[in-house]
Amino acid sequence: MSIALNLNTIKSTLPENVTLVAVSKTKPVSDLMQAYEAGQRIFGENKIQEMTDKWEEMPKDIQWHMIGHVQSNKVKFMAPFVSLIHGVDSLKLLQEINKQASKNNRIIDCLLQIYIAEEESKFGLDENELNELLSSSEFKEMKNIRILGLMGMATFTDDQNQIKKEFTHLKSIFDSIQTIENENLQLNTISMGMSGDYQLAIDCGSTMVRIGSSIFGGR
Ligand SMILES: *Cc1c(COP(=O)(O)O)cnc(C)c1O
Repeated sequence: MSIALNLNTIKSTLPENVTLVAVSKTKPVSDLMQAYEAGQRIFGENKIQEMTDKWEEMPKDIQWHMIGHVQSNKVKFMAPFVSLIHGVDSLKLLQEINKQASKNNRIIDCLLQIYIAEEESKFGLDENELNELLSSSEFKEMKNIRILGLMGMATFTDDQNQIKKEFTHLKSIFDSIQTIENENLQLNTISMGMSGDYQLAIDCGSTMVRIGSSIFGGR
């Protein structure tokens, strides 16, 4: 199967308000270029080093999304160019992003990752931690980050009801924070849904899907 064909097939099924992040982790630049030539401009990577290498090699009109877990000490490497960081799960990490964004004279868009799965291994904030973060004075004073919304990953299971429950939970948390107002909050994005569950995610209110293997093949 060709990457361009996979991409166009998926794009034709997405509603207009849903953004496609092509998840290209572990794939060579030649594969990414096939997607680029088919019109794709948003790519998702889960390792900062790999994303930085690809950014250096590839056309400069690509928007690079960091979708993986972020270590504070590596934020500086992507701060000059990253377009959206999906996996922000602590005030401390957000402070580091704010600091590095400031050094680069820019505002970095972020999503806060919410823990919605039943698995131990997934990162993220719970609802209380989210509200605590958003109401903290440290957050309110940050000038070089902007929170666009939330990101979540469902449990890895075949149980559609379980997944649906988790996506619906994320949407309800997103709805519950709409009343909070601050300069650096511009809530319009729910990043949920991957190759196996993106249609369900869209039914539950997703506005951004992160799709890898259905475009580029297995890893
Ligand atoms: C790898 C990855 C994806 C894409 O997964 P596929 O099943 O290949 O579509 C989406 N989100 C995150 C956070 C990932 O790490």
